[in-house]
Amino acid sequence: MPPKFYAVLGKSDTLSIGGKRQGIWEFIEKQNQPNGWLISLSNKPALFPPSPIPIFWDCSAIRYSRLNFPQLGNSLVTPLFCINQYLKLKAKAGDFITCPDHILLPGTNLEFRRQFNLKCAKEFIVLAKTHLSFCRPLATIHGVSIEERARNAVRLYELGYHAFAIGGLAINASQKNRNITIIRAIREALPLSCHIHVFGLCSPDYLRAFAQIGINSFDGGSWLRESFLGFFYEARENKLIKHRVPQNLLSNLAIPLCYCRICETLRNSGIETRAMGSRAANLGRAIHNLGELIKIHQQAFITK
Ligand SMILES: [Zn+2]
Repeated sequence: MPPKFYAVLGKSDTLSIGGKRQGIWEFIEKQNQPNGWLISLSNKPALFPPSPIPIFWDCSAIRYSRLNFPQLGNSLVTPLFCINQYLKLKAKAGDFITCPDHILLPGTNLEFRRQFNLKCAKEFIVLAKTHLSFCRPLATIHGVSIEERARNAVRLYELGYHAFAIGGLAINASQKNRNITIIRAIREALPLSCHIHVFGLCSPDYLRAFAQIGINSFDGGSWLRESFLGFFYEARENKLIKHRVPQNLLSNLAIPLCYCRICETLRNSGIETRAMGSRAANLGRAIHNLGELIKIHQQAFITK
């Protein structure tokens, strides 16, 4: 089974066309839809994808990673806080719900963070089984070395987890060999029946490795970020080409005209995705980018 891709959904990922506000999933062709969406507690969207689209509920550890004590807004992040949030957001059967954790950033209060992660993992699985028994509780594996990560993976499994995430690799996404080695070591430390997710790595480079190692899912939001930085994706012959868009349309000829649903819909309203522009133009380009990225994902698995 190819790994499933969860696209990161932001707070304001909605477009109004013809007076109707719609989620960005409405503008993506059926064959280019992600397998699900990743939603963070720190970034709740205005509109939620309708059931039965799978959701990966994330506790936003990256958001508070620089704070000594995990906090979102005025709330301390605890297992009970997260369970309560997932309940309020109506997490449904089969959705992943992430146990709160604290990233082991070098130079921070590491020992506190290790204790926090273990304590949360113990409490969260009990609460999840009681209050959200139809969801899939997931724990993030941390460690400053491969050995520590592998040891923690086994410990979390012994606590009752069957779904795991590997985090903290996206910061050094360019160190592909190092990251693949870590991911492989964790896969080997856990039974094959366990689900393993990799946070934040979604470039085509990683995909074949994920499929080969037996990673079950991954996520990413680079298609959105890079759109607002001015990149227009093109899936061409198994490669993802990133065109830099101009400030205005006049000098835009180098980028091929696109006929995907969002590019056409916006073009018909006089909005051009191949140039920097209004929020609609830039978000439209992000939706286009997501479709192209998913085409590349599909090709990577077909040709593996
Ligand atoms: Zn397009």
